[in-house]
Amino acid sequence: MVGAALALALARQRFSVVLIEARKPTLRWDAEIHDRRVSAISRASQHLLQNLDVWSVIVADRATPYRSMHVWDRAGIGEIHFDAADLAEPDLGHIVENRVIVRALWQALPSAGVRVLVPTQIRRLTIGDDGAEIRLDDGQVMQIGLVIGADGAASQVRMLSGIGCRSESYEQQAVVATVHAELGNRSTAWQRFMARGPLALLPMQRDLFSIVWSTSPDEADRLCAMPASAFNSALTEASESRLGQLTLQGERAGFPLRLQHAEQYVRPGVALVGDAAHVIHPLAGQGVNLGFLDAGALVDALIAGRDRGRAPGTLRTLRSYERQRRGHNTATQLAMDGLKHLFSNDSGALSLVRNLGLGAAGRVAPLRRVFERLALGDAVDLPTLSRAARRQ
Ligand SMILES: Cc1cc2nc3c(=O)[nH]c(=O)nc-3n(C[C@H](O)[C@H](O)[C@H](O)COP(=O)(O)OP(=O)(O)OC[C@H]3O[C@@H](n4cnc5c(N)ncnc54)[C@H](O)[C@@H]3O)c2cc1C
Repeated sequence: MVGAALALALARQRFSVVLIEARKPTLRWDAEIHDRRVSAISRASQHLLQNLDVWSVIVADRATPYRSMHVWDRAGIGEIHFDAADLAEPDLGHIVENRVIVRALWQALPSAGVRVLVPTQIRRLTIGDDGAEIRLDDGQVMQIGLVIGADGAASQVRMLSGIGCRSESYEQQAVVATVHAELGNRSTAWQRFMARGPLALLPMQRDLFSIVWSTSPDEADRLCAMPASAFNSALTEASESRLGQLTLQGERAGFPLRLQHAEQYVRPGVALVGDAAHVIHPLAGQGVNLGFLDAGALVDALIAGRDRGRAPGTLRTLRSYERQRRGHNTATQLAMDGLKHLFSNDSGALSLVRNLGLGAAGRVAPLRRVFERLALGDAVDLPTLSRAARRQ
């Protein structure tokens, strides 16, 4: 998602772009079957996709706006509910299947002039002072002004360019699935914090939800392996039946959760964006939203560098990108980390803080504001592409 958006944005800004992708993405599917992988797209990400002229394609395909969010805690005392109307917003964001975003972006790449090479990978990367030479699987060699690693958490570009990465397991797995809710979706995103991790229910079309159930690896394995009827009961109980009976639609899958941060985002001739640079807990669904902000900030930095006559791979150009994004990504990682620990620790004192926090937040503020801002993605100095649409 992040690499394709960045390729499109740079091509639209008259940079010459080659997209190298290891796996051909799925561009056709049965509309009745929903992708298990979805993203809660913030307002800032929506603006970026609007500015790239793909948002209308995404909405025409399938995107579900959600107008309220309800967060509660297993102790059952503290609750936060907030509504788009209170913030004078039409909605708090949209839930979109990842493949819908990828397809809209991929369909726009050829006419923007992006050269797409798929499926292939980089075999060798040689970095010079202000650019790089890459050799692909098929022996093809290219001189590139800047290699951008948008190749996810196990980034090959990060490894080949010798950039270190701090990585730590959360000792949790996220179980993802699509489920039907007896009481319908009510355009509301739900999140319940439990001892082993949060359960998020993200509204999809009709009466469907996409769930992200973070829990211990053993419990996740058990939830993925148990018969569907037992899973339905466990999930309905975990959601305290707030949406009535929940019924699994299709397959379940588990994703191990990690906290990761690259030691640098840039080297001469190399930049990292999205999960290649940072991976956070999916709680509050911020991963791809941060990645889109990286993409927007890198576009701004490269345009500013070009205006000053600098080559794209020069460190002076790239450092302004790193300066703009590292602080915000670190702060978001810490916030997610703090929330995760706050809500998963069983000590009595923390439980008290939690309940006081959620109870107070429901009426007034700080925690509530954190969730609102995360949903809308308006808490940072936004890159040009992430600001309100220049044209629809
Ligand atoms: C359970 C779960 C739920 C989530 N929910 C949300 C949410 O609601 N909202 C949100 O914002 N984020 C969410 N995230 C995070 C989000 O999915 C990621 O942040 C996002 O997918 C990162 O996008 P990316 O484009 O940087 O990387 P990726 O999506 O990992 O894409 C990397 C691309 O690079 C390609 N690639 C990999 N290696 C190579 C190679 N060697 N050569 C060439 N190509 C290569 C891959 O094929 C892929 O196309 C969630 C994550 C999880 C695990």
